[in-house]
Amino acid sequence: MHYNIWKQLLIFSLLCGMITKSIGQKFSAPSGRIHDFEEKIRIDTFKIEVFGLQQKSNKKRVGLNQVCINVLHNRTTDLKISLVNPLGVSIWLTNRNGGGSGINYTSTCFTRSGFFGYIHQNENPFNGTFIPDGKFDELNKSGSPNGTWLLLVEDLAEGVSGMLTNVELSFGELNFKPLKKACTFENPKHCKCEKGKSTGDLLPDIVVLPTFTERQIFEFGEEPVHYRKQLHIAVSLANIGNGPMEIKGDGRWYCDGSSIGVDSMTICGNGKYARQHIIQKVYYKPKRKKISHKEVTTGTNYYDARPGHTHFHVDDWVEFRLLKELETGGLDTISTGQKVSYCLFDSGTCNDQDDICKLGGKRYGIGNLPNYGLGNYLNCYSDFQGISVGGYDTYGMFYEGQYLQLPEDITNGDYVLEVVFDPKNLFVESNKSNNSLRFPVHLVKQ
Ligand SMILES: [Zn+2]
Repeated sequence: MHYNIWKQLLIFSLLCGMITKSIGQKFSAPSGRIHDFEEKIRIDTFKIEVFGLQQKSNKKRVGLNQVCINVLHNRTTDLKISLVNPLGVSIWLTNRNGGGSGINYTSTCFTRSGFFGYIHQNENPFNGTFIPDGKFDELNKSGSPNGTWLLLVEDLAEGVSGMLTNVELSFGELNFKPLKKACTFENPKHCKCEKGKSTGDLLPDIVVLPTFTERQIFEFGEEPVHYRKQLHIAVSLANIGNGPMEIKGDGRWYCDGSSIGVDSMTICGNGKYARQHIIQKVYYKPKRKKISHKEVTTGTNYYDARPGHTHFHVDDWVEFRLLKELETGGLDTISTGQKVSYCLFDSGTCNDQDDICKLGGKRYGIGNLPNYGLGNYLNCYSDFQGISVGGYDTYGMFYEGQYLQLPEDITNGDYVLEVVFDPKNLFVESNKSNNSLRFPVHLVKQ
C-alpha cells in the first residue's frame, strides 16, 4: 500500500517537473499528508509559489484557469478543500463530497465552467473537469496572480487520514469579459424593481433548488450507529429576486435574555453559544439617488464552533418534514426535523447554461435576473452575510443538521419529503409562496 503511494508520488512529481518546464505557466506544491481530525480542527496547508507571470497577454488579463488535485483518501466526505489566492480571497473547491463512502480524488480538475458540471453532482474518484463548490471567478477578480497561493485541506471527521499527492495551478489568458451594464450599489442606474419599474424595493426571493435537492438524499437503517435511522438531505437555496438577502447583527449578545457580560464567544448555561438579534437589510431604489435601505428586525444568529464551520449561522433557516399521502387524499405529517441554521453566502452562481437553477421549466441566470450579481457575500461574518441576486447557498448532505430523524416505527414505502425555507416566516421576500419544495422519496432500509 505504502509502496504504491510513493510510486504514484514519484510519477506525479516527475510529470509535474516536465510540464512546468515546457509550458512555464503551471505551478505545483510538494505532496504531503492529510492528517485525520482529532477533536480539534487542523488545516493541512500546501503552498504554491507563483512567479514570473505577466499581468496581461494579447491585451487579455492573465489569471488562474484551472486547478488540479490528486488525493488519496478512503472517505472523501470528511474533506473540505479550499484555494486561497495571494490577496487572501478563498473559495471552496470541494466540500464534503463523495456520498459517505467514496474514495479518492483522481486527476480532479476545477475550472469556472467545468465540463462535467458541478463537483457535488458527481461521484468518486471525480476524474475530469468540474465546477467547484465555490465561485471560481472570485480568485481572478483583482491583483496580480503572482505570489503565494494556498491549498487548504481540512479533515472534518475522525477515522481516516490520507495524502495530497499533487496540486497544480494553470495560468493563462482569461477568456471572459467583465459584466457591462451591471446593476451595482455604486451604479444603480441599471437596477430594476418589481415588474421592471425603475424605483421601488429590491426584495430577495429565496427558493429551494429542485435539481440539486431532489438528487441528494441518503437513507440509513440500523447501521452505522451514529447515523441510525437518519435521512440525510442536501439543500441548495438560490436568490432569484431583485435584491440581495442580507442580514446584519445588532452587536448585542444574549444568554436567556440577559446581555450582561455576554459576547459572541460566551457559552450560555444551556451549553449553547450566545445569540444575537439580526436585522434584514431591505434595499430600496429611489428614482435618481443612490440605493438606500431599511432595517427589518428578524431572527437570531450565533457562533458555530463545529469543525468545518467556525463562523456565524443564522437560526431557523430551513426545516425538513416527512409526509405520507393519505388514501383519502391530502398529506399526513410523519416527522418534522429540527430547524437547521445556515451560514449565508454565495457558494455559487446561477447561470442559464445548466439546470442547477431550473424551476418550473425555467432556467434562472444572467439573462432573466435583471439585477444579477447585486450583493457579494463570501464569508459568514456575525454582522454581515447574505445571498446575492443569482447566488446560491449549498448545504451538503453530510453537514451537521442536514438530516431528518426517522420515527422508530416507520416502514419502507413511498413518502413525500418537504424542504421549507424560513419555517418561522421571519424574512422579507417578494414571494413567500415558493418557499417549500415537495418531492417523492422511497424508503428501503427501514
Ligand atoms: Zn457553517
